[in-house]
Amino acid sequence: MENLLLIGSNALKKAALNENVKTHILKDPVLYKTLKKAADRYIGGENLEETIMKVIDQNKNGMKCSLEFMGENTATIQEAHQATNEFIRIAKQIKNQNLNATISLDLSHIGLAISKDLCFENLTQICKEAKNIEVTISAEGTEKTDNVMDTYIKGSKQFDNLSITLQAYLYRSKDDFKELIKEKGRIRIVKGAFETPEGLSIPRGKELDETYLYYLDELLSKNHRCAIATHHHFIQEEAAKRIDFYKTDSELYEFESLYGIETDQLDNLKMRGYNTKLYFVYGAEWYLYLCNRIAEYPMNIFRALSDIVN
Ligand SMILES: Cc1cc2nc3c(=O)[nH]c(=O)nc-3n(C[C@H](O)[C@H](O)[C@H](O)COP(=O)(O)OP(=O)(O)OC[C@H]3O[C@@H](n4cnc5c(N)ncnc54)[C@H](O)[C@@H]3O)c2cc1C
Repeated sequence: MENLLLIGSNALKKAALNENVKTHILKDPVLYKTLKKAADRYIGGENLEETIMKVIDQNKNGMKCSLEFMGENTATIQEAHQATNEFIRIAKQIKNQNLNATISLDLSHIGLAISKDLCFENLTQICKEAKNIEVTISAEGTEKTDNVMDTYIKGSKQFDNLSITLQAYLYRSKDDFKELIKEKGRIRIVKGAFETPEGLSIPRGKELDETYLYYLDELLSKNHRCAIATHHHFIQEEAAKRIDFYKTDSELYEFESLYGIETDQLDNLKMRGYNTKLYFVYGAEWYLYLCNRIAEYPMNIFRALSDIVN
């Protein structure tokens, strides 16, 4: 059974990257409607307006949110500008509608794959518009880590609202962490989602969990702003113990989970008085996002089937 799920998940990973399959699905009304039902569990919507409705609901219940317009590896300057304009629109809407929300983005969505300078110009525009709204840079594949680190460190000298994501599974993160902690911006700790070349990352398991908690201990004990971005119940509970132990101010940390994944755990932390945040992605690229959610946790194929049937 486990093998079958693994075969299915590997097939999905391949299908997700296949442009022909994607185009076919997005153009076929029946396939589109069917798969969109499964995607709805994980996305804020296809556009910002739909997503904001969900953010407003979450805010009413005391849940902070982060918003990402999905996309990565933008190939043309024009597309990078379009993505930048959409992030600027998010910043404006957060301000206009007084949402308790922040922004998240992939630097390769706003031009990093084209040029570092273009990306920095676009990031500058977003940070300026966002002003007091936090802008968190996501962590991408290992081929981009150096450029992402450089851009964040340069940006954080100019903008107080910039934060960064650190992948606990990368061995290099031990060194990167020493640089990141010198900056004031929040450090969001994630386990890491991308496949890496052999020898660069710690596989899921005890060593990775201990490494994750090591970073967390360092951040909490030094009162450095952090985000505990995980769905792993054990890590969430260990983090809660440390927050209690260090009596960490609620401004300094947040538990953050992806919309649609183990959100009952996040709700439970919220009910117990911890600072919590839900991460919404939205956009037309939901097909890729759905494939990734299923591929990283193959049991989700059953949830998808049930969402489609119901
Ligand atoms: C807010 C946020 C931002 C992120 N940003 C980045 C980023 O910038 N770069 C990056 O590389 N990664 C990012 N990630 C993804 C992260 O690296 C992990 O791949 C992802 O969170 C799964 O790891 P985990 O910590 O939940 O632990 P895991 O050990 O993978 O999972 C622990 C448990 O969580 C549950 N779970 C995990 N994933 C799923 C799922 N898809 N469906 C259902 N249950 C699930 C299961 O119960 C599982 O046993 C982000 C994650 C979050 C929550």
